[in-house]
Amino acid sequence: MERKKWSTTGIETSHLGFGCMRLPINSDGKIDEPQTLRMLDRAFAAGINYFDTAYVYHNGESEIVLGKWMKNIKRENLYITTKMPMMMVNSLDQAKKIFEEQLQRLQTDYIDCYLMHGLNEGYFKTAKELGIIEYAENLKKEGKIKALGFSFHDNFNIFEEIINYRDWDLCQIQLNYMDADIQAGLKGCQLAAQKKIPLIIMEPLKGGSLTNFSDDIANILKEIDPSSSLASFAFRWFADQETTVILSGMSTMEQLNENLQIFENMTPLNAPEKKAIEKIKAIINQKVHNSCTACRYCMPCPAGVNIPQNFSLWNEFGMYHVESMIKRRWGGFMLEDVKAKHCIKCGKCEEVCPQKISIREDLAKLQKELDAICGITD
Ligand code: SF4
Ligand code: SF4
Repeated sequence: MERKKWSTTGIETSHLGFGCMRLPINSDGKIDEPQTLRMLDRAFAAGINYFDTAYVYHNGESEIVLGKWMKNIKRENLYITTKMPMMMVNSLDQAKKIFEEQLQRLQTDYIDCYLMHGLNEGYFKTAKELGIIEYAENLKKEGKIKALGFSFHDNFNIFEEIINYRDWDLCQIQLNYMDADIQAGLKGCQLAAQKKIPLIIMEPLKGGSLTNFSDDIANILKEIDPSSSLASFAFRWFADQETTVILSGMSTMEQLNENLQIFENMTPLNAPEKKAIEKIKAIINQKVHNSCTACRYCMPCPAGVNIPQNFSLWNEFGMYHVESMIKRRWGGFMLEDVKAKHCIKCGKCEEVCPQKISIREDLAKLQKELDAICGITD
């Protein structure tokens, strides 16, 4: 397993990281602990030394199970990342309690990498206003965390603002070949490289969407190489990008073994493979609900609606139909205050939208559709 040396802390981590947000589960929805422990053992034995969890993963169980497993491993041979859940923190005292609870759950006296979880414009503001970043900086001085960073879900401009805010030790973004131009995107990847900040990639398979194509789309790649999996094309796309750790949220031993094999032979895509990926991107991009380019000419909205953020999520659903992603992001991460339902139909946004989108109509549609997926009723 290839290791990458971090310019900020000098540590060396495996290029493939183990994401602990989609661990195997039993029929009651709880983590299948014996199978998870076997997978973690296998991953570690194969050279994976970076494990990513969060306070909210598996309703808190992910940190607990990881903590049980870590007890049997020499601590200095492991790098554990967990995160401050910015989506649920309302005060500094609450943040402090959460951090202490995380140490207990993980049965450790320090966290290797600590991230502000899922920063967007709103959560970044909250983290600053409540003094949570300062608190985390003090934890680092005390040795309770070794590296401080953030994970991110918003547009490139916000990413640029956050990454330039202080000297972070790492940052984590969502990236895959379909998302090269959304959220932080490839521009974010390049900016992190330019600033020499280790970059952790999440959702390299877009929550499994890039391995679940209908046959007509999958065949575009299968025709080039029938023996390679769809996952291998998605991972190999990263061979051309500068990344430090690529996280994969693995749920089965088969996925783990397949990923290990892919990372042993991480060759860049060749020209016909790149062309096939571009063809797939074009087909999937046609499935969007509207043509919002996230240019933000319509912002700010007087009612506080984050128009491009609402459209981005809705369009993603149109492209992949992954309900779990909507439940997690619309039902969990996204601030209520910026949702479509607050639109007062003033029409200001439509006057300036270069794409001539019927913004008011689309906002009403998406609120209804995404609420229904999440089981939200007024
Ligand atoms: S029409 Fe709705 S979304 Fe557009 S600016 Fe007015 S309140 Fe905001
Ligand atoms: S102006 Fe139109 S295209 Fe630009 S972000 Fe707003 S809705 Fe999207």
